[in-house]
Amino acid sequence: MRRRRALLARFQRPRRNAYAPAVLVTPFSTLEEFIERHRKLFILTGAGCSTRSGIPDYRDADGAWKRAQPIRYQDFMADAAARRRYWARSLIGWRRFREARPNDAHRALARLESKGRIELLLTQNVDRLHQAAGSVRVVDLHGRLDLVRCMGCGRRIARDEVQDELGRLNAGWLGLAAADAPDGDADLDGADFSSFEPPSCRRCGGVLKPDVVFFGETVPRGRVDAAMRHLAQADAMLIVGSSLMVYSGYRFAQTAVSAGKPAAAINLGRTRADGLLALKVEQACEGALAFLL
Ligand SMILES: [Zn+2]
Repeated sequence: MRRRRALLARFQRPRRNAYAPAVLVTPFSTLEEFIERHRKLFILTGAGCSTRSGIPDYRDADGAWKRAQPIRYQDFMADAAARRRYWARSLIGWRRFREARPNDAHRALARLESKGRIELLLTQNVDRLHQAAGSVRVVDLHGRLDLVRCMGCGRRIARDEVQDELGRLNAGWLGLAAADAPDGDADLDGADFSSFEPPSCRRCGGVLKPDVVFFGETVPRGRVDAAMRHLAQADAMLIVGSSLMVYSGYRFAQTAVSAGKPAAAINLGRTRADGLLALKVEQACEGALAFLL
């Protein structure tokens, strides 16, 4: 049993750094023990939670980009050609993305919430699969891909409605197939996007943008503050399937540990917070959480 536990979990002693608490956190030998010992958990999830649902992630085990970086907010807003390329790829990618269903990692976390053990589930994913699995106490840190926002009048529109419009405007593109890329994107490179017609707001003619936080864009302040208030109420933090390479997620681990709350992570490969963790489980999320089901 002891050997099996050692195999299941590889823990690290917290290293001394600017964010280490004054009193060293006692390491935990298993994820079961970590979850048992803390009544209210603050959960942060990332792409690794959804890969089993068929949604590719951006980064490799070292936290480096696997592919070209996703579109930047500044490029999307300033450059009509960038918007044509984005929406052409999204027209193809959305069809598969919207079909994704929750996997056992989402189900295990929904079960944990139903036992009253989750203070908040903060997700960096934009796929709404936690909600589809039954989680209620969820904040979508980086927004949601099933909504589109008009940057002119602020109106929000269902992505499916925009998909219909895109199809009407660009019927010739509908037959294209492409490899799936993260966040409802598809690899269509090499195509000539100059003839692609991006959607615009029917009410004001404004630029339409998916209601997600793009790279280079700031997470709305109110959303961060609300999540931080929940973190203050939690006993510990559990990171599920994120390398925390993006600061918007990493700062929650910094805040937890500097407040003396132990943090654990399930992730294949390194995380930016490895030096802060009381427990690290290098396993696929659905496998590591299977004991909850
Ligand atoms: Zn508008």
